[in-house]
Amino acid sequence: MDVYGLIGNPVEHSLSPPMHEAAYDELGIDARYVTFEPAEGAAGEAVDAAATLGLAGLNVTIPFKQAVLEAVEPDDLAARIGAVNTIDFSGDRPTGHNTDAIGAVRALEAHDVDLERDAVVVGAGGAGRAVAFGLATEGMDVAIANRTVQKAHDLAADVPGASGHGLDALPELLSGADVLVNATSVGMDEDRSPVPTDALHGNLAVLDAVYSPIQTRLLREAAETGATTVDGAWMLLFQGVEAFERWTGRDAPVDVMNRALRGRL
Ligand code: NAP
Repeated sequence: MDVYGLIGNPVEHSLSPPMHEAAYDELGIDARYVTFEPAEGAAGEAVDAAATLGLAGLNVTIPFKQAVLEAVEPDDLAARIGAVNTIDFSGDRPTGHNTDAIGAVRALEAHDVDLERDAVVVGAGGAGRAVAFGLATEGMDVAIANRTVQKAHDLAADVPGASGHGLDALPELLSGADVLVNATSVGMDEDRSPVPTDALHGNLAVLDAVYSPIQTRLLREAAETGATTVDGAWMLLFQGVEAFERWTGRDAPVDVMNRALRGRL
């Protein structure tokens, strides 16, 4: 039996175990997915232990996504983002990948969103960083708007072709944009949106990284303008799909994983 795992703190309510185990069951893969809460500061030791114990793959969540870099060989994208959420133990040395970035891209692609022109990413924390790199890697021009403006400038300096702004620039930035991603925590467990309602329009595709609740105020208001809306569970789904495919070398049963995930939200 193969064992896959997740390290983070907290991981008690993680949706990854049911999502991955539904995929193992569907494809007849003899595997289990277990969660671990290492002590703070023990990220590297946890990765070494997972390798020693023969885990087949490890996901990494907050607060360890940066700290595990010391214990893995990151691929180019993960190194540029500076964060790893998926570790593969199949080579001589554990390799680190960032499937949050690809998860956001695949979530939009699954909704037939064209990723060619102008994107606005609200937020410059961990999710904002992954999403901004993901969209820029697809060739989009990315504008990053953040409450703390300096963090938007710092992130924009790292992302090819990106620009950094305060939240007050959102109406102007959005007037010509095709894609909007909320990568702040605004809207999580509260009925608030980080984007002024009248800045939204029907030519946008809007992805909200927040997935609790699944229908955020931002998505409701965007839908009212006729915009395409993509909820945060799609991004969560596709980061898991991407990890599953990397680990197993098989096409993920996306619909089965999606049902397992949404059944618990
Ligand atoms: P983080 O690193 O702590 O960053 C939080 C971001 O939210 C920062 O840009 C922060 O701005 C902004 N923010 C917080 N409160 C705000 C407020 N009242 N007004 C305006 N901006 C505010 O968190 P994270 O890891 O990036 O996560 C952000 C969200 O994305 C969370 O809801 C998380 O659940 C979600 N997420 C979803 C997925 C997925 O797969 N769907 C993956 C990762 C994360 P400042 O810099 O000014 O503080």
